[in-house]
Amino acid sequence: MRHFPVVMLANVCNAFVFAIASWGTEKFLLALGWATLIWSIVSVMVLRQWMRRAAARGVARRRRGVRRLLLYALALGSAWAALPLLFFGDASLGGKLLITCLSSGMLGGGVFVMASLPVAAIAFSGPIAIGALIALLQVGDRDHVLMAVVLAVYSTILFLGSFNYAKELRTLVATQIAAEEKASASAKNLGALAEMAAGLAHEISQPLAAAAAYIQSAERLLLVPAEKRPVPIAQPLRDAATQLENVHQIIVHLRDSITNRKAERKPLHLHETIQDVIQANRRRQENAGIRIDANLKAADDLVLANPVEMRQIFTNLISNAFDAMESSPERALAISSRATSDNAIRIDFADTGVGISPAIKTKLFEPLMTTKSRGLGVGLSITRSIVEEHEGQIWAEPNPGGGAVFTVVLPVEKAPAS
Ligand code: ADP
Repeated sequence: MRHFPVVMLANVCNAFVFAIASWGTEKFLLALGWATLIWSIVSVMVLRQWMRRAAARGVARRRRGVRRLLLYALALGSAWAALPLLFFGDASLGGKLLITCLSSGMLGGGVFVMASLPVAAIAFSGPIAIGALIALLQVGDRDHVLMAVVLAVYSTILFLGSFNYAKELRTLVATQIAAEEKASASAKNLGALAEMAAGLAHEISQPLAAAAAYIQSAERLLLVPAEKRPVPIAQPLRDAATQLENVHQIIVHLRDSITNRKAERKPLHLHETIQDVIQANRRRQENAGIRIDANLKAADDLVLANPVEMRQIFTNLISNAFDAMESSPERALAISSRATSDNAIRIDFADTGVGISPAIKTKLFEPLMTTKSRGLGVGLSITRSIVEEHEGQIWAEPNPGGGAVFTVVLPVEKAPAS
């Protein structure tokens, strides 16, 4: 359809040529009237198309557009069919030749331009072929009848060609669309895979580092005579085992989410989980000289949740707070909980770190957003999706004394009556 304007121009020029060619003949006025009809149809068509160009596109609009195109094609084709019917019989040999050239040119050109929409090609070129056939048969001698047969054969071949072309085009477009969809699906899968790998690396790096530290401290204890050891050697080994069990849980949890197995939820006391996470991070906390004030006062801390996911949330928030306080003169993390009026528990993690700059405030929970040189930027986005999956909310605000406060709100379960 790209060549449609060319066909419109051909319509106008050819009609003009025929009107001029009829100059001085008795059918000049009729020819002029006929040419004016062609020009009028083309003008209306071009004008309306122009006016519609700026309007929005849509399926309904496209359908209406096709219907309109068919109508114009039929109107123009019928006008061209009138050319041989009105003028061929009485024309001189030159006139007959001109009419034949113009008719076959319009017939072939119409099919060529509208080949991708065979109904439109037939609406335009069909009447031209029929008009020419009738005109030829009306003359009635052997030569003209033979010409009519040739015209009928050529037109049929042209129309069939248009149908074949449209069919091939449809197959080609469908194949291309399928290939593009496949490519975009695998690109999406790759993106999801990269995000998952980043998430996994983020989640397991911390417990693995903690386990390594516990094992190293057990190694150091071995060098100390048994009676002088500040803690029994079994303790750091037990702590290392706990950390490695956490890694195992995270991997099991990831495997379940890949296989679409819903993460199992069970009644869980959040205060215990928070204390566990604080304990698991004790060594890092002590090394960094951070004070943790846990003020877990909510009367009801029982939630229906997945334990691994809850650990993930608190580990992320505590670990981020530690990172944020790395170069703060005062390093204190206050963790407090309280009940809200709508049957939920609210937990605040208030640190005295660098705080959240306005530049990243709106992007804080977006995947791959990080300001750390070795950060992955997935912790908070994973945290938010876990919280939201548990019908909770999470947000961050500046800490009035400097630093940031991350708040998690989760609906609580009613404790079973004992
Ligand atoms: P990562 O820790 O790998 O950077 P996160 O998604 O956990 O990824 O955190 C994204 C970003 O949010 C961090 O890089 C940091 O800029 C900011 N952020 C998170 N927690 C805090 C906090 N407690 N104080 C200040 N900024 C924080």
